[in-house]
Amino acid sequence: MSKHRIGELNQFAQHNPVLPTGEGNKSQEAEPSPGWSIEDSEELYRIKGWGDPYFSINAAGHVTVSPKGDRGGSLDLFELVNALRLRNLGLPLLIRFSDILEDRIERLNAAFAKAIARYNYCGVYKGVFPVKCNQQRHLVEDLVKFGKPFKFGLEAGSKPELMIALASLDTPDALLICNGYKDREYIETAILAQRLNRTAIIVLEQLEEVELAIAASHKLGINPILGIRAKLSTRGVGRWGTSAGDRAKFGLTIPEILDVVEHLRAANLLDSLQLLHYHIGSQIPDITVIKDAITEASRIYVELSRLGAKMGYLDVGGGLGVDYDGSKTNFYASKNYNIQNYANDIVAELKDVCTEARLKMPTLISESGRAIAAHQSVLIFDVLGSSEVPALAIEPLQEEEPLLIRNLYDTYQSINDDNYQECYHDATQFKERAISLFNLGYLSLKERARAERLYWGCCHQILPIVRRQEYVPDDLEDLEKIMASIYYVNLSVFQSAPDSWAIDQLFPIMPIHRLDEEPTQRATLADLTCDSDGKIDQFIDLRDVKHILELHSLQPETSSPILSPSLKSLSAQSYYLGMFLGGAYQEIMGNLHNLFGDANAVHIQLTPTGYQIEHVVKGDTMTEVLGYVQYDSEDLIESIRRQTEWALQSQQITLTESQLLLQNYERSLSSYTYLSS
Ligand SMILES: *Cc1c(COP(=O)(O)O)cnc(C)c1O
Repeated sequence: MSKHRIGELNQFAQHNPVLPTGEGNKSQEAEPSPGWSIEDSEELYRIKGWGDPYFSINAAGHVTVSPKGDRGGSLDLFELVNALRLRNLGLPLLIRFSDILEDRIERLNAAFAKAIARYNYCGVYKGVFPVKCNQQRHLVEDLVKFGKPFKFGLEAGSKPELMIALASLDTPDALLICNGYKDREYIETAILAQRLNRTAIIVLEQLEEVELAIAASHKLGINPILGIRAKLSTRGVGRWGTSAGDRAKFGLTIPEILDVVEHLRAANLLDSLQLLHYHIGSQIPDITVIKDAITEASRIYVELSRLGAKMGYLDVGGGLGVDYDGSKTNFYASKNYNIQNYANDIVAELKDVCTEARLKMPTLISESGRAIAAHQSVLIFDVLGSSEVPALAIEPLQEEEPLLIRNLYDTYQSINDDNYQECYHDATQFKERAISLFNLGYLSLKERARAERLYWGCCHQILPIVRRQEYVPDDLEDLEKIMASIYYVNLSVFQSAPDSWAIDQLFPIMPIHRLDEEPTQRATLADLTCDSDGKIDQFIDLRDVKHILELHSLQPETSSPILSPSLKSLSAQSYYLGMFLGGAYQEIMGNLHNLFGDANAVHIQLTPTGYQIEHVVKGDTMTEVLGYVQYDSEDLIESIRRQTEWALQSQQITLTESQLLLQNYERSLSSYTYLSS
């Protein structure tokens, strides 16, 4: 998006009054469209595929949230957003549902409990949450609280995360898994945690860490509990496929593992080695990979035991996928298994291998982050305006017009159901030729405009024909994309959905209201940053991905005088979109591109009569983000004050103007970095 466009939007936002939002404000609801039902919306946005059991659509055409899953209680998300806006919480707004977090923990534990019972597995499951997935304090505190009945622990992947885990985890007998690169201080701290009754297990990922662990143990006179992270030859697939394999960044190869065993034996610490760990990557879409990994790891576990290590834990790492597109396939944004299949396969295989080796079955650990945290938050943002391919009036052909224009005009006139493909090719070619002729000086600016108008006229006629076809030829597939509107949204992709920008991750995005109305527009989303990458043009689909999202037109279709006619205003009603399943990784990876800061966040918990707001975490103010880049608000204000003073002296500014400038400047500094509507 160009800077110019941002300027327009800014003005636009200021000239539009604050919306009269309210709980259950029925006046805002549009008429349902005949021939369109909420079932049509369900299918279009695939909400049952990715949202079940937490998200659905109610009779009013609003998204509802059932944070406790199937166990009752639901909230109208649209009404919730309106109620939160009345409490001065601006958009974009991240809404966390603590009950969803609780439900995810229960589901994971129930799945393993069921698998353990089903296969008569003689051991227990003790999961841990990898803190790196979402380190926000309220969330980690909730996790520890909800995990208590299951002795659910935490996993730290760095020194700062160890600080969090050590201080937050107070569940007796829960595990504290210490991964990541370690120095002496890290290892000593983890060993000393035993004195606080913590079961802290230090997972050795590098050969150097063995010596550090032996030295720390001798120095402190405490035997550590150690684990080994193995580099499996089983490779993940998809985006994180390279987390395993011989050249992976982490873990020890089999020869290195044997080295470690001998080192520990020599130091008289072989009894300390009790855990085998592996992690073959996140979002594993294919269950066969999970099965292969547990087979290989179970065998390594048995062999370590045979070598004399006092094995007692097997940690299968993360990788449990989330079905972002709801297709239940091995597509990268999906997974072809559910939590129960996952638990069953792991438990059954581990049992078989241990039984065959006549070995005591280990305590089973998993480090699911994504599958625990993804569902609990929803990002709500509003649309500021849209820009559409203009449908311009085509004037009749004049006698003296150039041949090229006449050709284009004939094409435009002749389009029908039989020749639309040919006409599309012709129109495209004529338009390109028009530009060449213009560049060579043979067409005037007016003639070029006429050619472009005719070209878009052709596209406008061809598109509805294409949409009626059962099969769309490849060369016409782009037409939908070319003709898509751009919806300008009040968020920064870099801050709120960094994985969408960085690794093309798909998140379900859909309107949270008007779902009883047919979405007549096809659009891509452009964010507030002045960066052409700040957009979303890939959306979930049953097959592959979609390059456009079906959205409602912004009503009423009046245009504001300060805007180009194609940028429509939405003075009567906000249009809210929700981005779902973004509760894992996005918040901490979000960055301050263009100095858009953290979004406002609220924690919502269901109560018997409705809901309560547990915490409000205000997003960054401009003062805060400017502070990250070493600007001090006071200094900035002082600089502006001095400049206005100088301008007053030289009579370039009136007193009123200078007051307004300073007032706006100061007010901005203490306000949200996003636009207010
Ligand atoms: C990132 C990570 C996880 C979490 O993986 P998910 O796929 O999000 O469950 C678990 N363990 C380790 C060692 C990791 O690095």
